[in-house]
Amino acid sequence: MKTLKELVRPAIWDLKPYSSARDEYHGTATVFVDANENPYNAPYNRYPDPMQWEVKEKIAQQKQINPTSILLGNGSDEPIDLMIRAFCTPRVDNIVAIDPTYGMYQVSADINDVAYRKVPLSADFELSAAAVLAAVDEHTKLIFICSPNNPTGNELNRAEIYSILQGFDGMVIVDEAYIDFSSHRSFTTVLDAYPNLVILQTFSKAWGSAGVRLGMAFSSKEVIALLNKIKYPYNINQLTQAYALELLDRKGEVDEWIRILLIERTRVAQLLNSLTIVHHIYPSDANFLLVRVADADKIYKQLSDQGVIVRNRNSVSLCQGCLRITIGTRAENDIVLEALKNIAL
Ligand SMILES: *Cc1c(COP(=O)(O)O)cnc(C)c1O
Repeated sequence: MKTLKELVRPAIWDLKPYSSARDEYHGTATVFVDANENPYNAPYNRYPDPMQWEVKEKIAQQKQINPTSILLGNGSDEPIDLMIRAFCTPRVDNIVAIDPTYGMYQVSADINDVAYRKVPLSADFELSAAAVLAAVDEHTKLIFICSPNNPTGNELNRAEIYSILQGFDGMVIVDEAYIDFSSHRSFTTVLDAYPNLVILQTFSKAWGSAGVRLGMAFSSKEVIALLNKIKYPYNINQLTQAYALELLDRKGEVDEWIRILLIERTRVAQLLNSLTIVHHIYPSDANFLLVRVADADKIYKQLSDQGVIVRNRNSVSLCQGCLRITIGTRAENDIVLEALKNIAL
């Protein structure tokens, strides 16, 4: 790996971050008249903890990660954007990512005017480290890997991911948005072994809180410190921090949701298999199934006419003819299956 100083944009390396009132004073005083807050309307009158230590401590305990190795963001979208802004000089540096994958990496790269290089997965959606590393040049700062991958649903070959971590001298971002639905282990267990590893997780999927907008990035404390320098000072509001503390105490309930969704994933796959319009169901380590059907556009239209909205992935590379179907409640899944039975091609 190159040194962080060699990888980071010079302007960001030299940046002196905004210092808020809450950064400068830590402790328990009697009167806070340092931040021009209104004394009325407690508790919302106070600026929230810019570093969200209480929430991080709780996540740290559950995931066995040091709190200083955690960044919280407004969804995973925020750390994706922060990584690009921290490491990639516009029109100079580039990003390498697998294709197909989650759309936000490219959108964020485009917004930041950073070149985005796509490396196709194989026809069975497998990752080739050699192909990814072949796309790298001296201006490649980041590699995005999503595993389990969206929209394909599969966990990518771990040995290939390790080859990329070992063979690339920049940062490797492994997006684990769906890890809680996977039978495989998270890369968080090897965080200490790879200083160039950044792992993304989110409260949007297994934790059932997409509406709250809370994402996590895990990395070395040096990389996290760098991202802290450029994030908005109060990026996680008080309501979200309070909610997250409460949600993290409901881990047992979350595990039960996951258990039920995995049973449903198996059941839905089996029932889909018996439909003639379904040609192939791809293996899934996530809370959705990628399904190759007889005529994706036509089926998408007929499903939406019946009030059932799936994700049409027909125009996505390697996903021609495919619909992506999220696993819902048992009742919702039955409605989806019934609507599929009503399709007339
Ligand atoms: C859904 C999803 C996310 C979650 O994004 P948030 O901004 O945290 O809601 C992240 N990565 C992938 C691959 C996803 O599919």
